[in-house]
Formats: sequence, C-alpha cells, structure tokens
Amino acid sequence: MRRVKIVCTIGPATCHEAGIQGLLQAGMDMARLNGSHADLAWHAAAITLIRTCAPGIPILLDIPGRKIRTGTLTVEPVFEVGSTIILTTNPGDDGTRAVPVNRPDLHDHIKVGDAILADDGTLRFTVTAVRGRDLVCRAETSGTLRSAKGINVPGVAMGPQDLTPRDHAMIAFAVEHGVDFVGISFVESAAHVEAVRRLTGPSGPRILSKVENLGAMSNLSEVVRTSDAIMIDRGDLSVETNLEEVALMQKKILLAGLEHAVPVIVATEMLHSMIDNAVPTKAEVSDITNAVIDGATALMLSGETAVGRHPLAAVALMRRVADTVAESVQAGMDAAEGSTIPEAVGEAVALLCRRLPITRIVAITISGYAARMVAACRPRQGIIAVTNDPTRVRSLGLLHGTEAVLLPIVFSRTSTDHIVECLRLLWCEGRLGDDDLVLVTSVGYPRSGTRMNLIQTHAIRDLSVGLGWQR
Ligand code: ATP
Ligand code: MG
Ligand code: MG
Repeated sequence: MRRVKIVCTIGPATCHEAGIQGLLQAGMDMARLNGSHADLAWHAAAITLIRTCAPGIPILLDIPGRKIRTGTLTVEPVFEVGSTIILTTNPGDDGTRAVPVNRPDLHDHIKVGDAILADDGTLRFTVTAVRGRDLVCRAETSGTLRSAKGINVPGVAMGPQDLTPRDHAMIAFAVEHGVDFVGISFVESAAHVEAVRRLTGPSGPRILSKVENLGAMSNLSEVVRTSDAIMIDRGDLSVETNLEEVALMQKKILLAGLEHAVPVIVATEMLHSMIDNAVPTKAEVSDITNAVIDGATALMLSGETAVGRHPLAAVALMRRVADTVAESVQAGMDAAEGSTIPEAVGEAVALLCRRLPITRIVAITISGYAARMVAACRPRQGIIAVTNDPTRVRSLGLLHGTEAVLLPIVFSRTSTDHIVECLRLLWCEGRLGDDDLVLVTSVGYPRSGTRMNLIQTHAIRDLSVGLGWQR
C-alpha cells in the first residue's frame, strides 16, 4: 500500500506524454502546476496532457499571489561576491543593464542597507543605493540570477497579501479547467482562505494553503482548520522567517495538520541535489525520512521534476525511501495496537492527564498492576495508589510519583460502588479536597478476569455535595 503520497511539479522536463507516464510509474500521486511559471496556454495544455495520461491523478494549480519575481530575462547575470547587480522596477529592462522585478513600487519600500534575497534565499544582496526605479545592490553570494525567480525582502513591510487581478484570472481558469486543488500563496488568515473559497464556489477546486511566511505561522490553527490541504513551502518560509527554525516550524505545521485532520505536503528541496546529480545526498534521504516519521501526508518535488535532469529517478528514489519508512512507522504503530487492555488504558490515562486539568490520579488496585501501568506513563499529576492488601501497599511506594494508601475497600463483583467509596474515604482522610478533579482508574467487576479496564473523571465537589459526604 502507498501510505505517503508524492506530489510532482510538472515543468519543461516532464510536460510530455513519456514524462507524465514515467512519473506515474515511478510513484507520482498528485501533479502540481506552478502558475508563477509559463503562461495559461501552457497550463491548459499541461492539464489536458495529465488528464489524458494519468486520469486518476489529482491536479494542484498554484496561484502566484503577490510573490515578487524577476521578469523574463534575455541576459541572466552571473556574478561573484562583491559584484554590483542592479534590480529595477522598470519593466523595459531585460537583464542586460538591470534585472526587472514585477513589483512596480518595490523601490518605494527599499532603503540603503536592506537585504534582498533571491531564488528561495540562495542568492543574497545588500542595497547600496536607490536611484529612481533602480536598486543598486552588492552581491553577498556568487551565482546566477535567472528569469522568474522569487525575490524576498524580509523585514520590509510590503502591505497585505490580497489577491491580485492575475490571481482572480487564474482562479477562474482553475475552476474552468476543473483542477482538483488551487494552491494559495502566502496565506495569512482564515479570512484569506474564505475569500478564495467564495471565488472557487462549493463544487470548485479544493483549497490548499501554502504556509510560507510569518502571517500563516501566527494564525496557524485557523489557517489549517479552514483549508482543505496545507503545503509547507520551506523555500519562502526560510527566507520570510528564520532558516534555523524552519525544521521546527515544519514539525509544528505537521502536528497542526494531524490535529485538524488536514493533509499536509512538505515541499522544497527534498531532493534538490538530484536536479543535477543521479544520486541524492544522505541529508536529503534523512529529510524525507523525518518528514514521514513526523506524519507528512505527502512529499513534494519542485525543480527536481520540473526542470531537473533526473526527474524519474528522483520520484523512484523518493518512493522507495517513503515506502520503507512508512512501513516501519506503521509496524511500530501496529505493535502498540497489539498491546493489552491495561497497557492501552494506561496510555489513555496519560492522554487524559495531558488534556484535562486533572489534579490527582487515583489507581484503585488489588495487585498494584493499575498503579504500575499508570506510573509507567509518567503523568505530571501525583498518583494515589489505593489497595486493600496490607502486604502489597508499601511496595507500591516505589512507583514513580506514587503515594501508596491502604484502605479497607470491599470490591464488589456486581457493581463499581467501591470506586465512589474509595474516593469518599480519601476525602475523609483529607487526601482529596473539594477542588480536586480526579481521574480514577480501576478494575470494574473484579475477578472477572480483566485488570484495569475502567477510567472515570470526578470533580470531587460534585460527589461531596451531591452525596452529602460528612467528615
Ligand atoms: P514557489 O514559491 O511557488 O515554490 P518557485 O519559483 O520556487 O515558486 P517551484 O514550483 O518550486 O517554483 O519550482 C522550482 C523551479 O522549477 C522554478 O524556480 C522554475 O525555475 C522551475 N519551474 C517550475 N515550474 C515551471 C514551469 N511550468 N515552467 C518552467 N519552469 C518551471
Ligand atoms: Mg512559495
Ligand atoms: Mg518552490
């Protein structure tokens, strides 16, 4: 069974019949088209091709949003550290004198000393002068600035990420061509998601939110809750926030997805070295492994399948690693599933103790087994282990966080009355107070052959007042 899914970005390297069929055979589960690249005619042809060669595969179309990009360049400047590069908001330029960017007012927001990053943060510049529409920059890295690459200006307020007229046109295109998901770039809030949902309509494409800046991270829960799927775009996220925190954010987003039962795709540079090389780095394989362990629904390939030299090998490799890791994770989960009733009850107790404002745990136990199972889950609350066996009681005092109490409990074979009687005796001794919220675990109907088969929660005041307890 394919547990973890693979999303392939379709680009010039794969946008032909053999390409799509090859990706499918290698293990693609979803095709992604990036609306920031190529034109609508290209995307319409790509959609037709995918529907013909891989009719069962869902298609995601990413809507560009306000991401700033370089224009179409006739000359793609190559530079060294210290070289001067001019970015310009003058659309007439083509890279020969200056590199045009598609944000007409960028020069109004930038000042000398600001950092400008390009191509998912792999290229870095410092602004040394602003001359009219030109931003004169010093290169801090060597490299090549290519057409349609992302430009980020972290820390510079660029205004809200509302939908642009181009986004509106592309969403209409997505609806018209019946794609399955639209990917919304730089989603910031539930309101942002809902604004797109009004455009796609109830039977239109599902909405995938790309989490790629601080706005989405700050409103993570509402963004995840209102979206049909999430993509972690680590490229923009690393530049818009901090590179050193991206892996931590990835874990946080994956957890939010699991919590709200929303699928999450991990994206960007998963097998980046395979754009050029036939084999991956160990770090890339490790990245895939950890994403699967952390609960990713799907893994994405970007440049690897869009423009890379080894698109099919990259998918096949990702398929192998993801399947191997997913099987191993599943085997671990199944092993837990095979636990005994008391072991599973012990885990449930630990979960409830984390989620509820429980103040005390009471384990009513004949042999001490219930107390041992609960203590092994290391809950933060203190455990009162109650037994009626004078030969056992002291030994329970060894257990983690456990206070052992001997009480003359009469275990009923036909009711669970011993539980409330036990709580009353603890209350009478002052070991429980009216403000306690107690989690009780015990055996119901003792000697029926099952041990520790019961969990109850009690607000002690409800019992002391409701049942008229007297001290
Ligand atoms: P995003 O922030 O949406 O991920 P991106 O520029 O990083 O934008 P990806 O979709 O990650 O783009 O693709 C990686 C690279 O592959 C792009 O920078 C581009 O060079 C190339 N690419 C992707 N799709 C296409 C396409 N349809 N045509 C040409 N090149 C493409
Ligand atoms: Mg992005
Ligand atoms: Mg990308």
